Parts: sequence; C-alpha cells; structure tokens
Amino acid sequence: MAGIMLQKWLQDQLDGLRSNGLYNEIDPLQGANGPTIRISGRTFVNLSSNNYLGLATDSRLIDAAIAATRQYGAGAGAVRTINGTLELHAELERKLAAFKHTESAIAYQSGFNCNMAAISAVVDGGDAILSDELNHASIIDGCRLSRATIIRYRHSDMDDLRAKAMEARASGKYAKIMVITDGVFSMDGDIAKLPDIAAIADEFELITYVDDAHGSGVLGGGAGTVKHFGLSERIDLQIGTLSKAIGVVGGYVAGSKLLIDWLKVRSRPFLFSTAQPPGPVASCIAAIDILSSSEELQAAMWARADYLKRGLKALGFDIGRSETPITPVMIGDESLTQTFSRELYEAGVYAKGIVFPTVPKGAGRIRNMPTAAHTESMLDEALSAYERIGRKLGVI
Ligand SMILES: *Cc1c(COP(=O)(O)O)cnc(C)c1O
Repeated sequence: MAGIMLQKWLQDQLDGLRSNGLYNEIDPLQGANGPTIRISGRTFVNLSSNNYLGLATDSRLIDAAIAATRQYGAGAGAVRTINGTLELHAELERKLAAFKHTESAIAYQSGFNCNMAAISAVVDGGDAILSDELNHASIIDGCRLSRATIIRYRHSDMDDLRAKAMEARASGKYAKIMVITDGVFSMDGDIAKLPDIAAIADEFELITYVDDAHGSGVLGGGAGTVKHFGLSERIDLQIGTLSKAIGVVGGYVAGSKLLIDWLKVRSRPFLFSTAQPPGPVASCIAAIDILSSSEELQAAMWARADYLKRGLKALGFDIGRSETPITPVMIGDESLTQTFSRELYEAGVYAKGIVFPTVPKGAGRIRNMPTAAHTESMLDEALSAYERIGRKLGVI
C-alpha cells in the first residue's frame, strides 16, 4: 500500500500549499517568450523573463542553431569524457574565457549544474564556506552537497563577513575557507560588494566564488560584475549562465587553467551528464560573438531599464535597492502583493508577485525585468497599468 500512502501525502502537501495561496499555476505560453507573450489568446507585456538582451528570439542565434543541428545532429551523443568532445564545445569554452578575461572556461548543461559541479570539486567536509544569506538556491544546494561547514553572513554586510572570516580562520578548524556570493542578487537587483569581498579574501586567505548569472551580459561591458569592478585577476571562480542575457541554455565556470583542468576530471555533472546539444552551443557562440563585437544591445537594455525605473519612481513607487535592470516594486504585505500582480495580469501586464518564503515576510514585491527588446510604448502600457492599480490599491 506504499502507493496509496504516497498519493495521500502528496495530496495533503498540495492542498496545504493551495490553501495558503502558495501553489503556483504555470501558464502555457502560445509562441515565443519575447517582450510580449500570448496566454489563452491574450497578449501581455512580458516583464518576467531573464531575456535581458532579447537574444532568446534573435534570428542570428536561431540560424546558428539550425546550421549546427544539420552539421552535428540533434544531440551531443555522450558525456564528453567518454566519447570525446564536439569541437563546438571547445570553441564555446575558448570564447567564454576570452569574453570573461580568464585563462580558461568549462561549459555545463545549466547554471544550476555549475553550482552542483564547482563547489564540491574545490571544498569538502574539512573546509568552510562563507555564504551571503540571499544567495541563489543553486548555491545553497551546491554548498550542502560539498559537506563543508556553511557559515551564513548577513546580506552584503562586510563587517559581518569580516568578523566571520576572522573567526573561521582563527578557529584553526578548516583547511580551506571559501566566500561565495551572487554577483547581482536576483530579487533586489543590487550588486555584491566585490572590492570589499576581495580585500577580506586577501586578508584571510579565502577562495573567492562569484555566481554572476544576472551580471553576465549586463555589467562590465557584458563580461559581468567581476570585470565591472576590475577584479578579473582576483576572483578564483566565476560562474555564468547561458540562459539569461545569453538567451539560450547552459552554464560555465571561468577561471585559471588549473581550475578548469581540475573541474574536467573531478566535477560530477561534467563526468556523469551529457553535454549541451550542438544547436544551443552554436547559438551561445553566436551570442558571445554579438556581445564581443558591439555594445548596442546592452545600451538598449540600460535605456529601457532607466525608462521603466524613472517612470515607476515618478509615480511614487519604491523600487528598493535596485542597481541593475531587475526592478522590484516593493509592496510589503503578501496578499496585497498577490492582488496587485493579479490586477496587472487583468490589465495585460505579466509581472509576478514575489512573496515569502522567496523573500522575507513583509517584503512582498512585484519583480519587473525590462529588456532590450521592449519598446517605450510597451513600457508606457505597463506604467499606466501600474499607475491605475497603484492608486486603486492605495500603494501610491
Ligand atoms: C538563474 C540562476 C542560476 C541558474 O541558472 P540556469 O542556467 O537557469 O540553471 C544559478 N545561479 C544564479 C545566481 C541564478 O540567478
């Protein structure tokens, strides 16, 4: 009767989520995920993607995928260590290293997988990790997988980090100590204080690890948060995703040649999971080529982001501590946040409410992601919905 017990447990769990308003219904999109999307025959201004530069639907990426699929096939065929690596993967890695200003790079199937791979390849049970309390779920899982002692520090609180680094070092308990942070925090859009983190790392001999999923393609002329601060020589591991600004799927770790050689023999998602298919790899190469040759898309993205942010602020909304295109509209109360998001949906604006437990209690917000592909008239439509709903619900 194990089957029935599991079914009952699942039903209870799901009912619990539904009665607390925490069950997420996933909307099927009719057609591409662009600056506007279609759901149930209606068109929405889409402010929920991570498609910063509009590359997910760029014809150059699509053509590259089709050509590579014809030449190399639909799938990679096997794990790279067993059956050799397609030359396309090696080309992507060379281009990523040049793009990130590092000696070397290794590609994985996703950004999530990078954190499953790289953390436990360099630290283990005898080590410690200092981790920002707002780090992404995949960092948290990657840290757990490593079996290292996890020491959380308060979000971007450099005094707290320094005190905890000093204490960990003085304890003499750990062979290696690593500090790990998002480059750009995904729910607030604020940037990690990397110059301070690098200085603390120097003082206490910490390994430095920056997951720049939301910074790559966005900051530092596209190379990311580390380059933005001129720290390319000083950060040991830089993680990036190919699914956000790059617009496709996959992830990578960039760093020294020794690091990448080690990951190729010791990181489990590389050794035990099949590589990205040729089509997406070719699309990623096309995207890196575009970003390496022109800053036009980044300029368009920042212009749209400034436009939306200025518009929201002028209406009287609080956009929190955002320094990047990620633009939260702070609402506070959880149910008011959900009502606001529903009203936006009714008005044809697709922007999701984010509430506890994804963000702290009382810090509900609507998360908006303007992209290079939005037009000002799309953003005007969103701003006028925000104005009307904000007044109606007493938020402004
Ligand atoms: C989105 C994100 C990931 C996951 O990247 P995928 O390529 O979508 O798997 C990992 N880390 C951070 C910080 C992210 O924001």
